[in-house]
Amino acid sequence: MSIPRALQPSQDTWDLTPMYQDFTAWKKDLDDEAQQDYAALAAPYRDSKQLTPKQLRALFDLYYSLERRLRKIYTWAHLFHDQDIANDEGKQALQRVVARYHTFSESFSWMEPKILSHSIAKITSFIESKATAPYKVILERLVRIKPHTLPEEQEALMAMSSRAMDASHKAFSAINDADFRFADVQDSSGTPHSLTHATYGVLLRSPDRQLRQRAFETVHGQYQKYENTFAELLNGTLQHHYFEAKARGYASCLEASLFPKDIPASVYHALIQTVRSNIHVLHRYVHLKKQVLGVEELHPWDLYAPLTPDVSSAYTFDQAVELTIQACHPLGAAYVDRLTQGLTALRWVDRYENLNKRSGAYSSGCYDSPPYILMNFKGLLRDVFTLAHEAGHSMHSDCSRRQPFQTSDYAIFVAEVASTFNEELLSQELLQRGIGSPAAQASILNEKLEDFRGTLFRQTMFAEFELFIHERVEHGEPITPKILSEKYTELNRFYYGDELCMSPMTGIEWARIPHFYYNFYVYQYATGISAACALVDRVCHKGKQAQIDYLSFLQSGSSRFPIDLLSSAGVDMSSGEAVVRAIQRVDALLDQFEAILPSVSS
Ligand SMILES: [Zn+2]
Repeated sequence: MSIPRALQPSQDTWDLTPMYQDFTAWKKDLDDEAQQDYAALAAPYRDSKQLTPKQLRALFDLYYSLERRLRKIYTWAHLFHDQDIANDEGKQALQRVVARYHTFSESFSWMEPKILSHSIAKITSFIESKATAPYKVILERLVRIKPHTLPEEQEALMAMSSRAMDASHKAFSAINDADFRFADVQDSSGTPHSLTHATYGVLLRSPDRQLRQRAFETVHGQYQKYENTFAELLNGTLQHHYFEAKARGYASCLEASLFPKDIPASVYHALIQTVRSNIHVLHRYVHLKKQVLGVEELHPWDLYAPLTPDVSSAYTFDQAVELTIQACHPLGAAYVDRLTQGLTALRWVDRYENLNKRSGAYSSGCYDSPPYILMNFKGLLRDVFTLAHEAGHSMHSDCSRRQPFQTSDYAIFVAEVASTFNEELLSQELLQRGIGSPAAQASILNEKLEDFRGTLFRQTMFAEFELFIHERVEHGEPITPKILSEKYTELNRFYYGDELCMSPMTGIEWARIPHFYYNFYVYQYATGISAACALVDRVCHKGKQAQIDYLSFLQSGSSRFPIDLLSSAGVDMSSGEAVVRAIQRVDALLDQFEAILPSVSS
C-alpha cells in the first residue's frame, strides 16, 4: 500500500527548496510576476514598423527574461502537483501558472511573424550584427524558414484553418483512446483477462501462447471491423500534412516536417537504407526466437514473448544508484561526481510511490532548478535501467545549463541520445561484471535485444510506412484499407523475414498506431538509439578526446543545429554509419545470448 505524501521520509523525496522555500514563497513570486503587463511591455516593438538591431536585442532580452522567470514558476508548480495530484493546492497552483503562460504566449505571438516580415537581407544583417550576437542561432533558424513563410494575411488564414485540419487526428484519438472497448480474453486455463491499450503489451509478453494469440486477434479484429473509418482518418491527416507542405512551398511532406527542425532528409533516407541492407540481423533474431520458443511456426503474437524465464532480482535504490554511477565511469570524474551528488546529497530524485503520486518516470526541471527525476522505484531490473535513463536526461540538462537561457534547451532529435547512452553503459556494466546467474544475464540480454527490436527495427519499419503513405498522397494516389494493409504486410515480411508467418491480421496494425498521425516523428527513436550506440562505442574505445567531444555535446544545448552537434561529437547521422554500429551491437548481443543459452536451459 502506498503511503500519504506527508509520511514519505524527506530523504526519499526531491528537494525543491533550491527553487522556493515553500508554497508561500512560490505564490509570492507568482503574484509578483502577475503584475507584469505583457502586452504593454511588448507594444513598442510590436508597433514599430521595422526593427533596428538594438531594438531586436532589447525585444529578445525582454522575451527570454520573462520566459525564464515563468518557467521557474511553472516548473515548481508542476513538480509540486505531480508529487500528489489529488492535492488541491497543487492543482490550483498549476492552473494559475498555465493560464499565465497562455497570456504570455498570446502577447508575443506576433514576434516571430514580425521578425520574418523583414527581408532576407535585413534578417541576415541582424545575424551579422554585434547587438544581436547572443541570439544568432535563433535568427539563423528564422532565416532558414523565411522562404517558406507566407505573407501576413495568408499566415493568418493558415492559423485559422489549423483547428479544422486537426479534426481527423482528434477523431482518431477519440475513437482509439475513449470509444474503443476490447472484449476480455481468456488464457489457456480459461481465466479471463481485461484487454486495454495498457494491458495489451503485458499480455503479448505472457508465456501463455494462447493468451497472446487471443489478445492479438481480439485487438486487431476490432480495428479490422473499422478499417474504412481508420483509413479515412489517416488520409485526413495525410491531406493536412500535404496541404501545409504545398502551401509553404516544400518539395515534399518529409521535407516540410524535417527542414524547420534543421534535419536534412538524407538522415531519414540513410536510416531506412542502412536498416534494410542489414536486415539479416533482425532475421537472425527472429530465427533464434523461433528456436528458443520451440514453436513449429512463429506468429506475430510470439514476437514479444520472453526468451528467458522471469528472473526477478531485487535491487534497492542505493544499489541502483551505485550501479548507475559505476556504469558512468567512462564519462570521467567530473561527470561522475556531479551525478553522484545529484542522486544522493542534492536529492534530485523523488524515489518511491506514494498515494496519488504521478505514475511512471521522467526527468524535468528548468534553467533555474536542479534537473529533477520523478520515479516510482520498485526494485526491478527495469527500474535500475529507468534510473540510468532519467539520470542521462538530467545530466544532459545539467550540462546544457552552461549555455545562455535561450540556447539551453536541446532539440527533440537529440533528446533521447544521452538517456539511451547511459542505459547502454549500464547494460555493458551489468554484462561485463557478470552480475547474477546465467539466467539473470540472459534476461538482461533479452531486455536489450527487445529494446533494439522495438526501437531500431520496428520504428524504422514505421518510418518507411509513413514515407510510403505520404508519397502516395503527394502523387495523388488513393489511400484505401486494402492498399495500406498490403503495404504494411509487405513491410512486415521484409523486416521479419520468411520465418515469421503472416497472419491475415498482420496488415491491419497500421490502424492502431497513433504515431502515424505525428508527422514524421518515429524515426527519431531509431536515430537516437543509433547515435547513442555509436557514441558509447567512441567514448569507451577511442580515448580521452572522444570523452571530451561527448561532454561538449552535452554542454551544447541548442547552440547549433542538432546534426552539427552530433557530428562534432563524432557521429555523422547523414551517412548511416551510426545505424551500422547499432546493428553490429545487436549482432554481438545475439552472439552473447547464444553463448549463454546452454547454461540457462540446463
Ligand atoms: Zn527518455
